[in-house]
Amino acid sequence: MSILDYVPSGYILRDVQRTTLLEVERNWNNVDVFCLDLSVAAGKSLVAATIAEWRKRYGDPSNIIVPHIIHQNVYEESFDYPSLKGQDRYICNDKDFKRCKDRFYSVGYKCKSCDYNKTLRKAISSPIAVCNYHSYMNQAYVGSIIKPVLIADEAHNLVRFLNDKYTTTLWDFPDKLHTKDHIIMWFEKEIKRIYDILEDPDCTPILRKKYYNTYTKYNNILEGMTENKEEFLAERRELTYYGNAKTGMHITPLSVSRLNVVMWGEQVEKIVLMSASLNEKIDLNRLGLSNRRAMWISGKSPIPVENRPLRNEWVGKMTRKHAEQNFPKLVSKIKELAGRHQGKGFIHATYDLANRLRNELDNPRFMFHNKENKEEMLNEYMASSNKIFIGSGLSEGLSLNGHDFEWQAITKVQYPSLVDPINKHNMNYNKDLYDWETALNLIQMYGRICRAPKDKGITYMLDRSFQVFYIKNKGMFPEYFQQAITEGNK
Ligand code: SF4
Repeated sequence: MSILDYVPSGYILRDVQRTTLLEVERNWNNVDVFCLDLSVAAGKSLVAATIAEWRKRYGDPSNIIVPHIIHQNVYEESFDYPSLKGQDRYICNDKDFKRCKDRFYSVGYKCKSCDYNKTLRKAISSPIAVCNYHSYMNQAYVGSIIKPVLIADEAHNLVRFLNDKYTTTLWDFPDKLHTKDHIIMWFEKEIKRIYDILEDPDCTPILRKKYYNTYTKYNNILEGMTENKEEFLAERRELTYYGNAKTGMHITPLSVSRLNVVMWGEQVEKIVLMSASLNEKIDLNRLGLSNRRAMWISGKSPIPVENRPLRNEWVGKMTRKHAEQNFPKLVSKIKELAGRHQGKGFIHATYDLANRLRNELDNPRFMFHNKENKEEMLNEYMASSNKIFIGSGLSEGLSLNGHDFEWQAITKVQYPSLVDPINKHNMNYNKDLYDWETALNLIQMYGRICRAPKDKGITYMLDRSFQVFYIKNKGMFPEYFQQAITEGNK
């Protein structure tokens, strides 16, 4: 039987899904990591479910992991697999403790009747389970949830997710800890101290569990830093610790390539990464997967390019140096686009730029939001008939699906913030990576509109600095994006 015989009932495959699945089947035995480059509307969740059903037939259980609850809801609505969310999303039966962890450390066992634990047990024993990255990772440390096949949806998010997961802050460290060599020596001593606690026959099971996690984490960082300390950033930071200001030693890996990533531990035999924006040269290395046999499969966009053009209508450069001068032209262009389209529009802008636009765009069609009322305003916009939403930080997770969403505009090429130490390091020492993060954001913004094979939606690029950036980094943009530019500027 072919993999195509394992499509969940009630679904019909699109061409791009069929060709991708057949490629996966053909190469399954010779490949460890499949990178499925699938654009918006390719139907990644059905591809994931079909692979998982097919492997179930061969006795290989699968976990499907997704970045956010919003993606997990899509799987829950479409398929009947156990779906594990974060513990705080379940009703807790014991209100005497603030956190489940506190209760466990206090009494030493979990409640018999606990919705979270029930779902966890189902996810562990089921041949197919869905988790979000956080819920999966929390259990992967313990190991019980790991299955031989791991399918990651929206996998470009994994890079940042794993970096954050392996970032550590030391709270109690000696003043003389200044260089990375000092930190390595400190870890060696600390690991020895914890080892002695674990080996002590009087160490209780609860303490053992607590210290074992720290022991594993510190060992992992020590191994990585010993191998190449340049791949870690270490700096003192003023942070909040249990509500009080405290100096912490913040240790961040630039990538997890030197670490032992529990997400794909030894029991994970096959990994399938699905995304519309993974970078073949950069991301496998950053995920620590470059030593495995990998295969890249690119699927064609199922949306005809004439329905999703990207048109340059530059008002001038919107870089910090030129933004002030070109701001009046940006305002005029947005008003012009609003007059050109009677349907709903969306404008991607930074919070700073959106605040300035708020004073200039007084037509009631324009809607603005702040950090507190974002969701509420977005819901109002989605239900409206012809509003134009000025949105910040919405390059991902938003679906402007349907013909009433006619157009969107990108006001600025948004370079990663240099306040973030990883971005700053990349800007100085790894420019390709810095540019890739910029390109990724543009690809994601472009993907918000025109979401289904029969959908339509035009994207306007208003920032002239895109021209130079695109010429220099064209190879980073997927084929469907390049086609959209050619189509939009005929
Ligand atoms: S085991 Fe479940 S019910 Fe008990 S404290 Fe933890 S979350 Fe609450």
